[in-house]
Amino acid sequence: MDLENNSMRVLVTGGSGLVGSAIKHVVQEEGERREGEEWFFLSSKEANLVDPVQTRAVFEKYRPTHVIHLAAKVGGLYQHMRENLHFLRDNLKINDNVLQTAHEMGVTKVVSCLSSCIFPDKTTYPIDETMIHNGPPHDSNFGYSHAKRMIDVQNRAYFQQYGHRYTAVIPTNVFGPHDNFNIENGHVLTALVHKMYKAKKGGTPMTVWGSGTPRRQFMFSLDLGHLMIWALREYNEVDPIIFSVGEGDEVSIKDVVEMIAEILDFKGPILYDTTMSDGQIKKTASNAKLRRYLPDFTFTPFKEAVKKTCDWFEANYDIART
Ligand code: NAP
Ligand code: GDP
Repeated sequence: MDLENNSMRVLVTGGSGLVGSAIKHVVQEEGERREGEEWFFLSSKEANLVDPVQTRAVFEKYRPTHVIHLAAKVGGLYQHMRENLHFLRDNLKINDNVLQTAHEMGVTKVVSCLSSCIFPDKTTYPIDETMIHNGPPHDSNFGYSHAKRMIDVQNRAYFQQYGHRYTAVIPTNVFGPHDNFNIENGHVLTALVHKMYKAKKGGTPMTVWGSGTPRRQFMFSLDLGHLMIWALREYNEVDPIIFSVGEGDEVSIKDVVEMIAEILDFKGPILYDTTMSDGQIKKTASNAKLRRYLPDFTFTPFKEAVKKTCDWFEANYDIART
C-alpha cells in the first residue's frame, strides 16, 4: 500500500451510481474498510462536478488524500446516439474539474474509470491497454469516447509535469444492483431485465433492439467494486489496466436475452427489431494484464450475477432507477 501512517481519506465521485454503490457495499458490508481509512461517497446532489466552484467546495469539505473518480454522464448505446455532444462536454468538464482540483489540493492518487467502448472501432482483437488512441472510436459514442480518452492523456501529463500517480482502469460492460434500468437510456442488460419484467406482467411480446448478434464481456458490479479497491491500494502504474472477464466468457446479446428469460420465467414471444442499431459488433478486450497482477481473482459466474440483478430489481422496483 502506498500510504504513510496508514491514514487515507477516500472520496468516491459518482458514489451513488452502479459502480459507486458496489464499492460502498464492499467497503461497508463486506468489511473491506481498513483501519485508518475514511470513505466518502458523493452524489450529484451534493456537488455538480460540471461546475468547478462546486467541485472545489466539495474537495475542501472532505479533504481527500485519495479519489476514485466514477462520476460521469453514463448511458446505453441509444442515448449516446442521441446525445454525443452532451456526453462529450459534460464528461470533459467533470474530468478536468476533478483531476485539476485533485492536483491543486495535493491528492496522492486518483483512479478514474475509462470504458472498453472507447477503443478504436477498426482494430485487431483482443484489444489491449496500448491501443486506446490507435484510431477513431465507434461513431455511435464518439463524444463519450473522446472525453474518456482525454483522462488517459491528462493522467500522463500530470505525471510528466508533477509526478502524480493518477491512473485509470478500463472496465468492460458492467451490470448489477443500483444500475440504471431505464428502457430508453440504460445499458443493455438492465434495460432488457426491465423490458422483460414488464412484458411478463403485461402479457406482451418482448422486443430486443438490434439483431442480438453483437458480443460483450459482462462483469458483475460487485466484482468491479473489489477490483477498484485493489487498484486504489495496489496498482501503481499511470498506464491504464483493463478489468474484464476472459475472452472466452464473451456472450452474445441473444445469449443474455435467453438467460434473462429463463431466470424471469418469461414464456412469451421474443422479437428482434433489426431496424435498430447493433452498435459495436464486438469490443473483445484482453485481461492478460489483470491476470499478471491478479492470477487468482475470481469473477462471479455470469448466470449467478444476472440472477442477483433480477432479484434485486424485483425486490427494489419502487426505488430502482427506471
Ligand atoms: P451510473 O450508475 O450512471 O452513475 C453515475 C454516477 O455519476 C452517479 O453517482 C451520478 O450521481 C454521478 N454523476 C453524474 N453526473 C454528475 C455530475 N454532473 N456531477 C456529479 N456527479 C455526477 O454510472 P456507473 O455505471 O456507475 O459508471 C461509473 C463509472 O464507470 C463511469 O465513469 C463510467 O464511465 C464507468 N464505466 C461504466 C460501465 C458500465 O457498463 N456501467 C462500463 C465501463 C465504465 P447521481 O446519481 O447522484 O446523479
Ligand atoms: P454498448 O455495450 O456500449 O454498445 O452499450 P449497451 O449496453 O447499450 O449495449 C448495446 C448493445 O445491446 C447493442 O448491440 C444493442 O443492439 C443491444 N441491445 C438490445 N436491446 C437493447 C436495449 O433494450 N437497450 C440497449 N441499450 N441495448 C440493447
